[in-house]
Amino acid sequence: MKFLVVDDSLTMRRIIKNSLAKIGYTDVAEAGNGVEGLEEFEKGGISLILTDWNMPEMDGMTFVTKVREKDPNIPILMITTNAAKEDVLEAFKAGVSDYIVKPFTPEVLKEKIDNVLKG
Ligand SMILES: [Mg+2]
Repeated sequence: MKFLVVDDSLTMRRIIKNSLAKIGYTDVAEAGNGVEGLEEFEKGGISLILTDWNMPEMDGMTFVTKVREKDPNIPILMITTNAAKEDVLEAFKAGVSDYIVKPFTPEVLKEKIDNVLKG
């Protein structure tokens, strides 16, 4: 199962990738912003997307909206420092499947992934 990690921070992408590896997911594509994320997504074969909110070029909300126009079903987890309730609601409105506030543990990541993959 191939995942796509979209975050402008190389360090954060590494943290997410390491966490994914710990819980058994090692097939991971990466992108540094929404534009690159869409390019990766359009190559196909992605089963789940983990995306940051704040990014240059194209932010996570725009990215989620564009992915949802193409695919209403793919699980999308937003991982962000934006913890305000209005932000969480806005993200769900844009179509995220679930929401994770940084910093997070591999356990929380696993729980959220298991949940969204269950549908
Ligand atoms: Mg960011």
